[in-house]
Amino acid sequence: MVRVVYIAGDGRSGTTVLSQILGSYPGCLAVGELYDFWTECLDGDRLCSCGVPLRDCQFWNTVLEQTLGSTEPALLRYIAELRGAVQNTYHLPFVLFPRLRPKSFDRQFREYVEILERLYTTIQEVSGCEVIVDSSKLAAYALALNESPIIDVDLVHVSRDSRACAYSWRRLKREPIAGDQPRYLQQRKLMQVALVWSIRNMILAAISGRFETSVKLHYETFVGQPRLVMGQLAARLGLQGHDERWTSDNEVLVSASNHIFAGNPNRVQHGLIQIRPDDEWRRQMPIYQQRFVYALSLPALWMLGYLGARTAQSETTDPVPLVGDQVG
Ligand SMILES: [Zn+2]
Repeated sequence: MVRVVYIAGDGRSGTTVLSQILGSYPGCLAVGELYDFWTECLDGDRLCSCGVPLRDCQFWNTVLEQTLGSTEPALLRYIAELRGAVQNTYHLPFVLFPRLRPKSFDRQFREYVEILERLYTTIQEVSGCEVIVDSSKLAAYALALNESPIIDVDLVHVSRDSRACAYSWRRLKREPIAGDQPRYLQQRKLMQVALVWSIRNMILAAISGRFETSVKLHYETFVGQPRLVMGQLAARLGLQGHDERWTSDNEVLVSASNHIFAGNPNRVQHGLIQIRPDDEWRRQMPIYQQRFVYALSLPALWMLGYLGARTAQSETTDPVPLVGDQVG
């Protein structure tokens, strides 16, 4: 069996830093957003957290070669197209409800899952890790992994206030890549953030019961008391060595042995990092924008427990259940 801790949620919700920390615990390896592995291998420019571009990363080159027996771009393109065919939004009902699948889709989906089985098995063999920490975020990909009889998926659904996400999505962030040509992370407009954030988080909340272990986590709770929350999360996931990584209540030692090739630009940081609440959006985001996003995402905010939720500050004095069972 291959054990995967899968960090799910929408973008700009802290999924990368969570994976960096979890991947630093003994026996764990953070790999970033493996959903994008095939397309990123074709490009190869993005910096892996080990410090070199993906195309030059010895670890990923070995994994790719052993998984496919080849690094031919045509084969990568085939898998990327296969992924596009079975994981696109249009086909989400077939992923959610296997009984609805036409035979042709079912055949393609099984082929895709078998390729993923080879990929994750190879990562475990090459790295020697016991737990792969994957921050691919997407519900459809978590379900694809969960269909494999040899992949054991623990779901960690992390959410962040939609207004904070909206503010973050509008900030220009430079992607760490090889070469001098700057590349920036994708930006989203307010309405797009509110709708995508709502749909993705509601689907994740709805499917959580399908995983053997499923944990929900508010980003605000995590950054309010990071050491305490991560200790609870590690305990829920059965991960050892939590205390050795933390030098204070908000300072943690992030391992340089992870290979995170996609995610937040901060993925390339390692060593001691500080986790602090980031509520700049409350001061800098115009009130009318906050209200617009809040109104559009109200149903999902309610579903995720944000309405009437305590602030991060109040949570620091009230350490009641910080990591809860997911609501299915
Ligand atoms: Zn690497």
